[in-house]
Amino acid sequence: MNKNVLWAIRLMAVCVAGIIALQFFYSVQNYAIEKRNFSKTVNEAFQVAVDSSFSARNDAISETFRTWISDTASFKITCRVNPKQNVTVFTIAEKLPPFSDQNSTSLSIETFTEKRHAITTKARAIFIDHLVESVRTDLKKGYVFYYTKQLGDKLEKERFFVPIDTGIVRKEYRRELDKRAISLDFSLDPKQITSGKFTTNQINLALKQHVKPRWIRATFPHSAFFVFQKLKWSIAGSGALLLLTFFCFGYTLKLLFTQEKLAKVKDDFINNMTHELHTPLASIIVTAEALQKFEHDKQSQKRYLEIILHQSKRLDSLSSEILDSARMRENTNGNFASTDLNTLIQEAISAFPEVAFDCFIPATEIAIQADRDQLIRMLRNLFDNSVKYANVENLNIRISVSVVGQKINMEISDNGRGIPKDEKSKIFDAFYRIPTGNLHEVKGYGLGLHFVKQVLQNHGGSISVVDAEPQGTLFKITLPK
Ligand code: ADP
Repeated sequence: MNKNVLWAIRLMAVCVAGIIALQFFYSVQNYAIEKRNFSKTVNEAFQVAVDSSFSARNDAISETFRTWISDTASFKITCRVNPKQNVTVFTIAEKLPPFSDQNSTSLSIETFTEKRHAITTKARAIFIDHLVESVRTDLKKGYVFYYTKQLGDKLEKERFFVPIDTGIVRKEYRRELDKRAISLDFSLDPKQITSGKFTTNQINLALKQHVKPRWIRATFPHSAFFVFQKLKWSIAGSGALLLLTFFCFGYTLKLLFTQEKLAKVKDDFINNMTHELHTPLASIIVTAEALQKFEHDKQSQKRYLEIILHQSKRLDSLSSEILDSARMRENTNGNFASTDLNTLIQEAISAFPEVAFDCFIPATEIAIQADRDQLIRMLRNLFDNSVKYANVENLNIRISVSVVGQKINMEISDNGRGIPKDEKSKIFDAFYRIPTGNLHEVKGYGLGLHFVKQVLQNHGGSISVVDAEPQGTLFKITLPK
């Protein structure tokens, strides 16, 4: 192959490899960034969900506290006006034993400006709301104010011994993830980390410091798929770019190889033609010179003129063959008429009286629409090739024809040398000859089978070549009826 072409192919291959490597690198980087973003988002959401679970629990405790102080059998709420400060002072006192020295508390409410000497339903409700809100705020800050001993003990118990329900954490986490457009399934695992699965940071759900921690973490079994989903357009873009690059590379390679092939075919053709033209021309020149220079008797003159005529005819048939092939390429029409294929085959065979033909053809007429001359020449080209390339003593050409529906199947085989496997696809190309080095033992221009293929295409048919059994070449032809 041409050195420059080789270099161009190498450079293109390096470019394609570079594009693939860069695309791969960017895709891996994008994946890492997307994974980091995912990790940040789900960890943030997890922290928010746990915080919300704690505050939901504080709300629940505050509401329980409301039921305790609203219970008139257990607590008595009264009020009076403190004359010194001129404010209403509320008192909440335990009603049930055991009593301690802190069984009641009195306090005023800054926003309650009325002066009340006795409790009313409205004042009582305002006082209860005030206490509940104070407890809620204290719980948020992380401590409990002992209004009375019994209330304080109950609150401590509720605060430290009723654990956070993971069901609430799950619900809160789901809500937070939905807010962030993450619809992935997750599981809340206290300890175990499943390898290969994405897991959030662990968070302690213990209610007190300095006690055994109660770790919780979330595991996402399908996080990789989610991250890929996010990258789908960038991956699809990369894939499309790679496909386009491969296509361009392949297409350019194909063009380069076609160019190479054409150059080789051209060289072969010029070599062949030079040889084919040179031999008859040299013979004509030598013979004509001999005629010109020397006196010859009638007999010799006749012989020399016959040589000139024979070589001129050879040149003429060569130029006609090339011209015919060119004409056939430009003009696909022909003199189509209804003809009997059987008769055409017999006529083609008649030009080869010295060859043994085995015919398996239906005895009846096989009527087809065809250009008689083209079909006869096509068949003769095939028979001629068998004769030229057979290279065997007892050449035998086998012709079989069968009609299947509207299709005619014809097989023409010989017992010659056959065609090598990797040449089969090329022999129908114009000017293609199977390379034999510089030996031109058999004459030809590589146009015979090209002509055959063109005639068949012209008739709406096709041709392919396979190995004949046990040896030789088998051409399979189809023609429409
Ligand atoms: P050519 O003018 O060289 O005969 P063709 O187009 O007829 O060109 O054939 C192309 C090539 O196919 C030939 O060079 C020959 O090597 C090979 N070929 C064709 N027919 C046969 C055959 N029956 N047996 C073996 N080789 C064949």
